[in-house]
Amino acid sequence: MSSVRPTSEAHFGTTVPVLVAGAGACGLTAALAARDAGAEVVVLERSVVPQGSTSMSSALIPGPGSRYQRAAGIVDTPQRMYDDLLVKTKGRTDPVVAKLCTETAAATIEWLADRFGLPFEMAPIWQAFGHSRARMHQLPGGTGEEFIEHLTAAAEREGIDVITEAHVTQLFADADGTVTGVRITRPDGGTEDIGCGALILATSGFGGNAEMVREHVPEIAEATYFGWEHNRGDAIRWGRALGAAVRNLDAYQGFPALADPHRISMNLEGLSSGGIQVNVHGERFYNECESPSTGALHVLRQPGGSVFNIYGQRQFEIACDRKRTRMADELGAIKHAATLDELAGMIGVPAQPLKDAVAEAQRLCATNGADRWGRRFEPDLVMAPPFHAIRVTGALYHTQGGLAIDHEARVVRENGQALPNLFAGGGAAVGISGPGGAGYLPGNGLLTATCLGRAAGSAAARLVARREAAE
Ligand SMILES: Cc1cc2nc3c(=O)[nH]c(=O)nc-3n(C[C@H](O)[C@H](O)[C@H](O)COP(=O)(O)OP(=O)(O)OC[C@H]3O[C@@H](n4cnc5c(N)ncnc54)[C@H](O)[C@@H]3O)c2cc1C
Repeated sequence: MSSVRPTSEAHFGTTVPVLVAGAGACGLTAALAARDAGAEVVVLERSVVPQGSTSMSSALIPGPGSRYQRAAGIVDTPQRMYDDLLVKTKGRTDPVVAKLCTETAAATIEWLADRFGLPFEMAPIWQAFGHSRARMHQLPGGTGEEFIEHLTAAAEREGIDVITEAHVTQLFADADGTVTGVRITRPDGGTEDIGCGALILATSGFGGNAEMVREHVPEIAEATYFGWEHNRGDAIRWGRALGAAVRNLDAYQGFPALADPHRISMNLEGLSSGGIQVNVHGERFYNECESPSTGALHVLRQPGGSVFNIYGQRQFEIACDRKRTRMADELGAIKHAATLDELAGMIGVPAQPLKDAVAEAQRLCATNGADRWGRRFEPDLVMAPPFHAIRVTGALYHTQGGLAIDHEARVVRENGQALPNLFAGGGAAVGISGPGGAGYLPGNGLLTATCLGRAAGSAAARLVARREAAE
């Protein structure tokens, strides 16, 4: 049966002005924005509690030009981040979405802080991986769990109904593409139809759908998927059935440092602050600061598909700023040694190549030179004992392609015409990473979740208000 059925087949028990499918960062931000703009809004979430990939993330969000940056003396602008995106994607970022996100990012972070009490702060060590300025914002604990808890609490305070265990399984629409409501299926198989004035698709991408990943992103299809399991590409399926255009379905974020076998996401700061990765031969094999996605592919190509993050004491301390690194350490995943000979023995790699790799990094720190892959090492972040190592593998974190949208996050057809009342954001919509994996600039995931969510929520509220006024 098609995933979009005619309105005549629906039995709407209730109708709400703005309906949101998915309660991750995008869905909850959209709901808060719709409510802020005066609309009644309901969120439908398939899982038992709102979590999504958002809860698994490090909750790092770029905000070029924010007041937090200004307070830290960092000069940055939306245009500068847009230019960074152009460089990273070789000019292939979606210009409309990238403009919308870069221009509203700082205001969105400040709105979440001022209006809903999210205690953002600047994240250190983040002028890396293609960001020409330190512009990452985080919450004090540095985890996505904290972020989603704040958003859920804000939704509750605003009186927004977040209905969980409500799997949206079908949409209802009129012949002109106007969405009139959805069907939800409960865990016991029971169904309920809910009507709506506008629908926001915030069900993220299709990382949890192995078949779609094989079809659209074959280069990373064999990797572990480490995102939210319920993200199965539903929005793309519904949008297509309604005649929407899709863009960059081969886009994704891979990650080069998922603790193996502990499945804990190690942060990138330990690497960008001077850490290195070596394979089982004790040898480096690429520029660890090039891109997380291409890094995942490099790691997966090494013997056995896993490698070691190697930190000196300073890199280890920086990595330990995040709770998850401390957790990995408590679980015994991180090995510690006073010398590289000892560390090599503990992780089972030959000592001499490991010592050569570290010696090269130390030398490049002193001379500010570049290695054979073009990586430069900061002079004040020399690797020094004691040394630390953790085994990691490459993984797929989330997909970045999706429904084509306009400057208000309205879903559009191939000819650019907006569907009457359908919006999308976060992983459900086309991202700003261009095609493939190499264009992912860290933070693109939550940037598009929060900024597109906010844009969609406000625009959906305006749309239903206009319609109500006209009736
Ligand atoms: C380990 C990890 C670390 C990351 N770190 C960062 C980071 O630091 N910074 C950054 O910018 N990005 C990061 N990302 C990416 C970021 O988490 C995602 O881009 C972002 O969370 C997407 O938000 P979303 O709201 O679109 O999706 P999600 O947060 O995944 O929410 C989608 C929700 O929709 C629900 N859903 C799906 N289908 C249905 C349906 N049919 N009916 C009802 N509900 C449905 C799902 O259950 C889910 O709760 C990371 C990702 C991972 C996996």
